[in-house]
Amino acid sequence: MINDANELDDGAVMRADICIVGAGAAGISLALALIEAGKSVLLLESGGLQAEAATQALYDGETADARMHPPPDKYRQRRFGGSTTIWGGRCMPLDPIDFEQRDYLPLSGWPIRYDDLAPFYPRANTLVEAGRFAYTAETAYNQLSQPIIEGFDSPRVTQTTLERFSLPTNFAVSYGAQLRAAKNLNMLLHANCTGIRLTADGSAVDHLDVATLTGKRFQVKAHNYVLAAGGLEVVRLLLASRDVQKNGVGNDHDVVGRYYMCHIAGALGTLTITRPRSAVWHGYVMTPDGVYARRRFAITPETQRELKIGNFIARLHFARITDPAHRSGILSGLYLAKSFISYEYSKRLHGDEKRTFKNWLLHVRNILFDPFDTLAFLWHWLTRRTLAKRKFPSVVIPSRANRFSVDFHSEQQPNPDSRITLTDEKDALGVPKIRIDWRYTDWDIETVAKALDVLADELKNTGCGRLEFDRTTLPEEIMRYGAYGGHHIGTARMGHDPATSVVDADCKVHGVSNLYIASAAVFPTSSQANPTLTIVALSLRLAQHLSPAKTPA
Ligand SMILES: Cc1cc2nc3c(=O)[nH]c(=O)nc-3n(C[C@H](O)[C@H](O)[C@H](O)COP(=O)(O)OP(=O)(O)OC[C@H]3O[C@@H](n4cnc5c(N)ncnc54)[C@H](O)[C@@H]3O)c2cc1C
Repeated sequence: MINDANELDDGAVMRADICIVGAGAAGISLALALIEAGKSVLLLESGGLQAEAATQALYDGETADARMHPPPDKYRQRRFGGSTTIWGGRCMPLDPIDFEQRDYLPLSGWPIRYDDLAPFYPRANTLVEAGRFAYTAETAYNQLSQPIIEGFDSPRVTQTTLERFSLPTNFAVSYGAQLRAAKNLNMLLHANCTGIRLTADGSAVDHLDVATLTGKRFQVKAHNYVLAAGGLEVVRLLLASRDVQKNGVGNDHDVVGRYYMCHIAGALGTLTITRPRSAVWHGYVMTPDGVYARRRFAITPETQRELKIGNFIARLHFARITDPAHRSGILSGLYLAKSFISYEYSKRLHGDEKRTFKNWLLHVRNILFDPFDTLAFLWHWLTRRTLAKRKFPSVVIPSRANRFSVDFHSEQQPNPDSRITLTDEKDALGVPKIRIDWRYTDWDIETVAKALDVLADELKNTGCGRLEFDRTTLPEEIMRYGAYGGHHIGTARMGHDPATSVVDADCKVHGVSNLYIASAAVFPTSSQANPTLTIVALSLRLAQHLSPAKTPA
């Protein structure tokens, strides 16, 4: 059932087998698996059914460098469904190399292997509504789909792995009815966890403090507690709870909040394909089970090891839309529609370039000279994106000149100086706000630079084209948009050693017997992959741990 915490008595004590804090992708997946296993679950959710400004303001905080990282109340949503209410739905699993200890990447190596998580990916894929767990062209399509570039057969760069797309599934919409109908689940909306209260010896959670914005305060007592409040908020709750462990819960070794990773992502360079246009396909191909999917270029694990670089993928992309020289009415339309596009999506499309009247005129000219393509695109967007339940994932524009930019997504190194801390300022419920000091390293830049070199070499070697980019401005171009917005990774990392990790291989906080974390916060390394599918898979694995033998994978 779903209730509202505002209707509870002040000072009430709520009880359950398991209390989950946060009803986003992680919390809802975990709750669904646990109620199926017969556990009694109390799911605390800060938000309501819709976005509410006062609740969203609880996410306010600071960033050390506004150019490098968006403010903490952007790129996350404090409401039922969490950030799945606005996510893009791009899904893919991590790769086996992501779990390995790589001698060239300090602090790499998960305490679990890919094979430990593999049994949970298929159900995770179903929950995100991305169809079958089939992430190669060979396994996903009955007949092989067209490669990105025919004839591009490289031993160092593959073009057979896929990204598949969720609806994108808003977990509140898709699973609200199931949660409402469950007799062994009580979900409380407007219930903000404000503190984790430990027993006097610090070895277990005694209870959670919970508050509403209308002034109600109550406690939750459970056998086990799971923080599923997102990769930034989990840190905030651990650090803000200092009454027993003076540095915050699980933070004896000052690890909580450190090693914060996003992804390094952007679009750069000019990739000119010298094969005929018919030999090039950079759009989506629907899988037989009705899911949008597309191939990407990926640097092979062997090449990553040889070059000592991180994981990296890339796709063909359109030219930078801010520059009217592209002459595309569609791109100019997107440029002029900036005010209708949300902050999260316009940031990467438009960047922070200053708008001039001359540029505006040139964009208008592009639209006037390209009316048929522009209208066809608008129709496509209305029918296949705006009105469709399964939405066309992104703007794909064929290039008449066979010329593209390279849209990349790459791994970041775990860096202790990249971190989340608390400020002296408090939110409306008295919880200290966060400060984000996101950093990147030379290795992060090197990964992209060397991967682009490999891609350029292989395009040349296979006679498929050429990739050109300006080496003198490459680091600035790579970091043009700073941290990739909504991926909050590594802040409560998983590991065997409490000196360099916060949770163990079961996602249990070291030294606290009944406190767990379900979030990308626990990823020790960031991979090239968008995180949500793996967040869900890890949540299902945690459900099995909390309810052994009863929870199906
Ligand atoms: C614009 C955008 C696009 C994205 N696109 C993709 C994509 O294509 N692919 C992908 O894999 N990922 C994507 N993501 C990331 C994805 O949304 C997150 O990885 C995912 O939502 C994280 O799930 P979560 O459950 O850990 O956290 P969240 O979804 O953030 O859920 C946390 C929940 O906890 C609640 N909460 C917070 N604090 C408290 C508290 N103190 N007490 C009680 N409840 C609390 C919140 O209200 C929220 O419901 C995108 C994100 C954004 C913003």
